[in-house]
Amino acid sequence: MALLHTRWLLTAPRLAAAARASSWWSHVEMGPPDPILGVTEAFKRDTNSKKMNLGVGAYRDDNGKPFVLNCVRKYVTVQGISGTGSLRIGANFLQRFFKSSRDVYLPKPSWGNHTPIFRDAGLQLQAYRYYDPKTCSLDFSGAMDDISKIPEKSIILLHACAHNPTGVDPRQEQWKELAAMVKKRNLLVYFDMAYQGFASGDINRDAWAVRYFIEQGINVVLSQSYAKNMGLYGERAGAFTVICSDAEEAKRVESQLKILIRPMYSNPPLNGARIASIILNTPDLRKEWLVEVKGMADRIISMRNQLVSNLKKEGSSHNWQHITDQIGMFCFTGLKPEQVERLIKEFSIYMTKDGRISVAGVTSGNVGYLAHAIHQVTK
Ligand code: PMP
Repeated sequence: MALLHTRWLLTAPRLAAAARASSWWSHVEMGPPDPILGVTEAFKRDTNSKKMNLGVGAYRDDNGKPFVLNCVRKYVTVQGISGTGSLRIGANFLQRFFKSSRDVYLPKPSWGNHTPIFRDAGLQLQAYRYYDPKTCSLDFSGAMDDISKIPEKSIILLHACAHNPTGVDPRQEQWKELAAMVKKRNLLVYFDMAYQGFASGDINRDAWAVRYFIEQGINVVLSQSYAKNMGLYGERAGAFTVICSDAEEAKRVESQLKILIRPMYSNPPLNGARIASIILNTPDLRKEWLVEVKGMADRIISMRNQLVSNLKKEGSSHNWQHITDQIGMFCFTGLKPEQVERLIKEFSIYMTKDGRISVAGVTSGNVGYLAHAIHQVTK
């Protein structure tokens, strides 16, 4: 699906093309068709009713139809790429075609896997300030200050919504200022969108920043994951998108993405992508999905509120407002490593050493126990 999805997304955002000052992908040449898969592409284009595809070694039944073995029908297939794989395709694409810089600027902190993904693709990691541990919130002036000093035509990674691990996102006004600064520095923005819907419960609202940056004519690439918002973790459905100047450039970029993907995993897995596509394209299922995404986000928001009110009930005098201010699946509690260790040892409450909790793991049944334990280690 990644490829089909990419094709759709590549040609869609014509709107922004006019606003984008100059193309950064004009040097990307049309790649030659893959020696095997190119045969199928030519086959599909052929209108001759007698056509035969003898290029691809995939079994067909006597009616020329794909044949699903009965024993296979009993298996569940799990295989895939998801957000991680999509990020890696993007990283490799930039390594190969983004000649103006090797530097990728990550927010401090960022998802732990960003560093090896970009490093293994041959890029260099840099950082910009993002989170202020003193206030447990966004260090907006620090971020703006650091971004203003990033050399022109570098790559900056932005979490599109529900920042992992901090749960801290810019407000819309702050996004606008960030966009203006990014434009001024002429940076390439790499959006990572792994939690669309989890921040506000509304997939459109959570995509606001990505759409705004594209409307502003900023050069954007995007990785998406359907793992969380469709609950398709093991299916590994994801997508990587490059916003291009026009359909012709999109074709060239797509040809090179195919060339990158072919030796990596040849083709994306079908099952999860089909599920995602059916949900997105069937009006009733789409409606139901949107309600369910909102339900998941709302439950997390309600757990944040319950955690804070239970902490107050316990008699905690700390200011826990950041727990309800932060959004998405994660909460950066501000707990110190030694407090985390006590939570694990004395209360069997497990979390990463940086004090990040997945609010998705909190329930109305255990929120009281969690508040009690946090109070015991912080009083
Ligand atoms: N980006 C971020 C910020 C993430 O938190 C995650 C998952 N933890 C991913 C990308 C990739 O997720 P997946 O490969 O499971 O889709």
